[in-house]
Amino acid sequence: MSTKDYLEKDYYKVLGVSKTASQDEIKKAYRKLARKYHPDANKGDSEAEDRFKEVSEAYDVLSDEKRRREYDALRSMPGGFRGGQQGGGFGFDLGDLFGQTGAAGGAGERLGDLFGGLFGRGTRTTAGARRARRGADVETEVTLSFGKSLSGATVPIRLSSEKACPSCQGTGARSGTVPRVCPSCEGTGMETRNLGSFGFQEPCRQCRGRGLVVDDPCPNCRGSGRATGTRTIQARIPAGVKDGQKIRLRGKGAPGENGGPAGDLYVNIKVRPHAVFGRSGDNLTLTVPVTFAEAALGAEIKVPTFGGQPVTLRLPEGTPNGRTFRVRGRGAPRRDGTKGDLLVTVEVQVPQKVDDPTRELLERLRAAGGGDELRGELLRQAREE
Ligand SMILES: [Zn+2]
Ligand SMILES: [Zn+2]
Repeated sequence: MSTKDYLEKDYYKVLGVSKTASQDEIKKAYRKLARKYHPDANKGDSEAEDRFKEVSEAYDVLSDEKRRREYDALRSMPGGFRGGQQGGGFGFDLGDLFGQTGAAGGAGERLGDLFGGLFGRGTRTTAGARRARRGADVETEVTLSFGKSLSGATVPIRLSSEKACPSCQGTGARSGTVPRVCPSCEGTGMETRNLGSFGFQEPCRQCRGRGLVVDDPCPNCRGSGRATGTRTIQARIPAGVKDGQKIRLRGKGAPGENGGPAGDLYVNIKVRPHAVFGRSGDNLTLTVPVTFAEAALGAEIKVPTFGGQPVTLRLPEGTPNGRTFRVRGRGAPRRDGTKGDLLVTVEVQVPQKVDDPTRELLERLRAAGGGDELRGELLRQAREE
């Protein structure tokens, strides 16, 4: 009778009694069923024979107070532990366990045996070496042109990856030789260690969880069976990403092991600056030079937009230097498909060189005065305490 039997079989149900049934009730139920399914009364009926065995097995356990306590204790374990599927790292409170059973010393040993059996045999098919494992997350950096950051792009990204060593096809054994099944764990990759009366599982120390040992290691990979290679993936960068932004591409990280899902790829975005356009949130920015006359008298000026036709911006009379105008819908794309605005800042230019006709005009303007008046208020205020 194994631990697995204890976990899978409901002896109370087999005997048709409640979990709190007394020894008398258990005995009565057993006798009734034993008579019914006894082989002498059911010659050649294999189903009855099986039932008879089940009933006897259930009675053997439940009629023995000590074994019944152990059975109850084991079946009351939380599902995760009972399944024994998680591999190593079991944590449970011995105090709770024994508190529940109300058993002293001797029962502990018996439970230890049960767990040893559970881990040693019950989990062999789900040994850690072959457990599905999620791939690692990978981080990388991508530099985009200003335009590609706005339009979105599919960019090839080279990632280093582990792959099977080409010399030994991943076996880790020198070519012409083969690894053998690890004698310590018999190929499961896991070994049971006993701590006190409890056993728990950890990766086999002899084969480091591979389940195989190599006598003559491959010189190329020194027996690891792995080699570093590169793989190139096509990463889809969404439109409108900003410099310094980190985007996550699900499932583009390292591949999973044994059927586990791939990790994620985190891409740090760098955007090369543009010659004239800047970025402020969802808006694009642009500085446009205007003449003093255009600013003073007002004007209609042509300003460029990114990736589109220039638009006409109307400057009102008396536009001050540094004023910013908003051109709606000509900014960076947003996630919802709309766009930010283009913010145009005017910069009044002072001519560095003037031809004769312009000089004549400017001299007339200077002669009209205004400079002293312009600074008069400033000079007055500067004298105040
Ligand atoms: Zn091993
Ligand atoms: Zn190799």
